[in-house]
This record gives sequence, C-alpha cells and structure tokens, in this order.
Amino acid sequence: MMKEYIEEAEKALLHTYNRYQIVLDKGDGVYLYDTEGKKYLDFVSGIGVFALGYHNEAYNDAIKAQIDKVIHTSNYFYNVPAIEAAKKIKRVSGMDRVFFTNSGAEAVEGAIKAARKYAYLKDGRTDHEIIAMEHSFHGRTMGALSITGNPKYREAFEPMIGNIQFARMNDFQSVKSLVTDKTCAIIFETVQGEGGIHPAREEFIKQIKALCEEKDILLILDEIQCGMGRTGAMYAWQRYGVKPDIMTTAKALGGGIPVGAFLMTEHVAQHSLTSGDHGTTYGGNPLAAAAVNKVLDLFEENHIIENVNSVAPYLERKLDEVVDKYEFIKTRRGVGFMQGLEFTRPVGEIIEKTLDNGLILINAGLNVIRFVPPLIITEEDVDNMISILEHSLS
Ligand SMILES: *Cc1c(COP(=O)(O)O)cnc(C)c1O
Repeated sequence: MMKEYIEEAEKALLHTYNRYQIVLDKGDGVYLYDTEGKKYLDFVSGIGVFALGYHNEAYNDAIKAQIDKVIHTSNYFYNVPAIEAAKKIKRVSGMDRVFFTNSGAEAVEGAIKAARKYAYLKDGRTDHEIIAMEHSFHGRTMGALSITGNPKYREAFEPMIGNIQFARMNDFQSVKSLVTDKTCAIIFETVQGEGGIHPAREEFIKQIKALCEEKDILLILDEIQCGMGRTGAMYAWQRYGVKPDIMTTAKALGGGIPVGAFLMTEHVAQHSLTSGDHGTTYGGNPLAAAAVNKVLDLFEENHIIENVNSVAPYLERKLDEVVDKYEFIKTRRGVGFMQGLEFTRPVGEIIEKTLDNGLILINAGLNVIRFVPPLIITEEDVDNMISILEHSLS
C-alpha cells in the first residue's frame, strides 16, 4: 500500500526532495504513524514546527472553532484573532510591530524590504548592501535565497537580488571588513539550522550589535528555526540580552498551520514600510492567527519553555555520551532542543537505519544529524531515542 502511494507521488509531485520511503498518516504526542500503522518516535517535529506535539486537543479545538466562524477575510479588514495574536507575539518577543506572512521565506523577504526601505529613506540611494553569513539558510524565494550562504542552492538561479556580501559566522572581523557606507543590514540566524547547527557566540552577537548601533545598520535575526522556545528562551536572542531591529519567526509559530511573521522595533516601523509598500493576501488570516493565539497560550499553560530548560541538559549529556563512544562521531553542537551530532562521514544511511528502527531524525548538511524534537519530550523519550540511535549505529 505504502509502495503504491510512493509510486503515485513520484509520478505527480515535482521531484525537489529525495523523500524517505514512508508515507505518514497520523500523529499522537511525540509519535507519528505511517499508513501501515508502524510507529515512529519523532525527533524532527516537521523541522521544528510541531512544538506542542501531535494531536494536541486544545490546539485542534481552537482551529476547528475558528473554521466554523471565518477562515479568511483579506487584510483590507481587521480580524480579532490577528489583533490578539499580534498583541501576544509583541509581548513574548519584546518587539513593537508585526507583519504576518505565510512562511519563513516570506518573512525574510519582508525583513529585507524593510531594511532596504529604512536605508533608502535616510539617503535616497538604491544600491544598499546586506551582509549575510556563510552556511546560512534563509529560504528558497529569490530574496531569501540571495542571502543564503550556500552557493549550491544559489548557482542555477543567478542572478541573485544583488549587493549581498557573505561573512563568516562568529568571526567579527570578517563582518566588519565588509561594512561600507552602503551597508543597510546584517542578517544571521541566532543558531544556524540547515548549515549544521552552529550557535552564534555571545561575544559575536554583542560586537555586531555595537557595530550596528554605531553605524545605524539594522541587525536582522532569523529566528525561524531557533525561535519559539527551542533554545530555552522564547527567542534565542533573548538569551544574550541583545535585541535585533528586525526579526523573523515561523516554523513553530502556527504549530502546523502555515504562518510566519517579521517583527521590528517602533523606530524601524516609523522609518521603513508604509501603506502600499508591502502586502499579502493570506498572511495573518483568521485561521492562521487563531493557531498562533492557541500556540502562544499553550506555551504558557503547558510550561513549554520550562520543559525545554529542564530536559535539555539531560539530552545534551546523553548525546555527549554517544559522542564519546563512537570514534566516527566528532562532536555535539547546539542549544536546548536544537542539537546536532557531527560525524566524520555522511549521515544519510544512519538516518535511514534509525527510520527502519522507528526513529525519525534528519540531517543538517551532509555530516550532521539534527535533533529538533517536539518541545514536550521527556527524559524517557530521550532514553528511547538514544537506545534506537545506538542500536542503529552498531
Ligand atoms: C526553514 C527556514 C526558513 C524558511 O522557512 P520556510 O517556511 O520554509 O519558507 C528560513 N530561515 C530559517 C532559519 C529556516 O530554518
């Protein structure tokens, strides 16, 4: 049965993914089930999306209730769920203004536009530059791709949007040497995800922030993967006491309903995008906004961030033990429930093995296995994961 589904998929879907050979059917808590009923412990959560776990009844009920009221109105009108979601996301982020999008990449596009407009209003030039990082990932649309520091993703789609420079993450001098009077923004992920789980060092963030303040350059932090509690703070930058001028969020924001956002300080809002500058048909529609509302409520009610902080040290210790045991595992990197194990060789086969054994994992680059589980996992789930992982390694 599963085999037939896969054959049909490969005839109909554009082949932009080398998918794992299972068809997922339903989920419950930290488990997913395929169409043949096989159960998988999930340490991927749909790439950091299903933070609350699968089949959360309170979340599902909130979405169903909104479906029965109204799903979509367009942004020419106000709607209550979006107003409430905006208030809540302001409160948890400490940012001042929010624009809801349908995806992470679209949030990044908005952030780029806001930064360019900010600089344009200052000096009227149209040749501003953005500094991004090597090994970064910001999405697949043309603007987001242009600042994605992986030449393989970009090459066939050149020319990019232009005036983008790449510096080395955690190397302040490499950033500083690229700054000119045309630089309008410096953007990076507070913890690089796709590029192999590389957290920004505190000193790096602080130096960049000081540089941005000195030169009136906007600091944009991409929190699409590392945000929403995954690192033990609602947004990873909050751990450093350094606030961005613009930030992006998505993935776990809607708990599975596609929604993202870019947020900014009041100062940037007053000096950048204005009416007619930007828009979206769906962004922040009542259904998506109802999902955001419920996700943010459940984060508080279910003490999600507390759970990350209480279980993460155990996860780190257990992963460190695995690193010590196998000579082909080089190191562990990460923060909270965003962890990576770097191997001395490609990890594709190992991930297929763990999948066979009932554990869903994913890579981050060729040699890194990424662990981005639902934020509700317990120490027992960690034990189960480690035991399947070790069984698959031997
Ligand atoms: C996933 C991701 C994106 C892109 O989000 P989409 O919703 O896939 O467009 C951008 N930035 C980071 C850091 C991401 O992890």
